Order: sequence, then C-alpha cells, then structure tokens
Amino acid sequence: VLIVMGKTDTGASTHRQQSMLLVPMDTPGVELVRTLPVFGYEPQHGHCEVRFSGVRVPAANLLGGEGDGFLMAQARLGPGRIHHCMRAIGAGERALQLLCQRAVSRVAFGRPLADQGVVQQQIAESRMDLDQARLMVLRTAWLIDRHGASGARSEIAAIKVIAPRAALRVLDRAIQVHGGAGVSADVPLAQMWAGVRTLRIADGPDEVHVQSVARQELKAYRSPRT
Ligand SMILES: Cc1cc2nc3c(=O)[nH]c(=O)nc-3n(C[C@H](O)[C@H](O)[C@H](O)COP(=O)(O)OP(=O)(O)OC[C@H]3O[C@@H](n4cnc5c(N)ncnc54)[C@H](O)[C@@H]3O)c2cc1C
Repeated sequence: VLIVMGKTDTGASTHRQQSMLLVPMDTPGVELVRTLPVFGYEPQHGHCEVRFSGVRVPAANLLGGEGDGFLMAQARLGPGRIHHCMRAIGAGERALQLLCQRAVSRVAFGRPLADQGVVQQQIAESRMDLDQARLMVLRTAWLIDRHGASGARSEIAAIKVIAPRAALRVLDRAIQVHGGAGVSADVPLAQMWAGVRTLRIADGPDEVHVQSVARQELKAYRSPRT
C-alpha cells in the first residue's frame, strides 16, 4: 500500500493544502517505472519512480481528514529524523570497530597500523566525533520526551546535520585505514558510507536544517525591542 501525499485544496492556507491517501499498489494506473539505485547500490528502502495515470481510490482511503497531510508529515518528521541520527551513529560505531580491528591486525612496514600515531589520532577523533553526536542525540530525545518535537525544533535540525557528518568522517577514516580493502565490497564500509551520505539530503538537505537553527537562534533578536 502506498501513502500518497498531494494537494487537494490549492486555495486553503499553506499548511492545509495537502492530504494523504492510501493507494493499494495494484490499483489501475499505478506503475512502478524503475528502482532508483543510490551510488550504484540497489535501494535498501524501496526508492522508486512511480507513475500515477488516472488513479482513483474511494474517499474512505483518506488518512485523517482532508487537509491533514502536512500536519501528519510534520508529526512524523521529528521522530523520523532522530531515528536517522541513531542509525547514523550505529553505522559510525560499526565503522570504528572495523577500523580498530583492522589497525591491530594489519602489519605494514614492520608494525601494526595501530602503532602509527596518525592511525591512533584517527581512532581518537572518531571516538570523540561519535560521543559528541550521541550526547546531542540523547539530549534531543530527552527534550522531545518532555516537550514534544515542537519543543526541540532547533535541536532536531542540528542533530540531523551533526550525526550524519560525524558518521561520515568516521566511515571515511575507516575506509582509509583499510587501504584498498576499504573501497572494495569485501567490507561493508563503502555501502555504509553511501547509505549515510544520503542522510545529508534525505529528510531535508543540511543547508535547510542549518537555516532552521539560525532562524531559531535569531528569533530572540528579531522580537520587538523592549
Ligand atoms: C535516498 C533518499 C531517500 C529519500 N526518501 C524520501 C522519502 O521517503 N520521502 C520523501 O518525501 N522524500 C524522500 N527523499 C527526498 C528528499 O527529502 C529530497 O531529496 C530533499 O528534501 C532535497 O530535495 P530535492 O532533492 O528536491 O533537492 P532541491 O530542493 O533541488 O535542493 C538541492 C540542493 O540545493 C540546496 N538547497 C535547497 N534548498 C536550500 C535552501 N533553502 N538554502 C540553501 N540551499 C538549499 C541544497 O544543497 C540541496 O541539496 C529522499 C531522498 C533521498 C536521496
């Protein structure tokens, strides 16, 4: 079943124009044109190009009420974004684990990679990157628990930028320490990098979230002067 969001009333106020409809995949007129590989990898989450030609469904397929689409999407986005961050940190942790395992087991130029100061620095930077991101995610989750997603708008936007960037830095270091193996399909690092890289775009690109953090920060300075 597809959840299709679209404009049902272009004359309504901005946030009341969209509705969501349940559309069974076998409804006449629904066509899966193609899957959309990400960096050459087959999509893990079913991303496709879908064409709708004269598709009709009963009014009972409306989710919520007419015009509720934007609100429902917003309600899902806060928790959805923090979920992306948790997965990004998980990927970062896995990458750091692989990095360390490789560093102690691979001997190059007569000693384990882990004995090289530059590799130790990469390990330490990775641990610090991940712990900073994790603490920020935990604080945001704590705020959502207390005040709901609307009470943590700036923090959600911030971690959506911070966590994927941190995980990508760790993944990049792990790939580097693995040498040629790092870019091969023998280890999962390249595929994990491709997956996490999409998070800097999906659910809103970094630039839009950064703008949102700045807007929240500036609010106090733009209120009427006392
Ligand atoms: C793997 C993947 C999965 C996705 N899954 C979903 C999904 O499940 N559901 C869904 O609805 N969407 C999904 N998306 C879509 C995603 O939300 C959009 O791709 C994203 O919001 C960016 O929109 P766009 O692609 O139209 O890029 P555009 O809006 O064309 O933006 C392109 C670039 O312009 C810049 N930019 C855009 N706006 C601004 C701004 N205000 N200020 C400064 N710079 C800006 C940014 O660099 C941005 O990356 C997915 C995307 C990807 C890649």
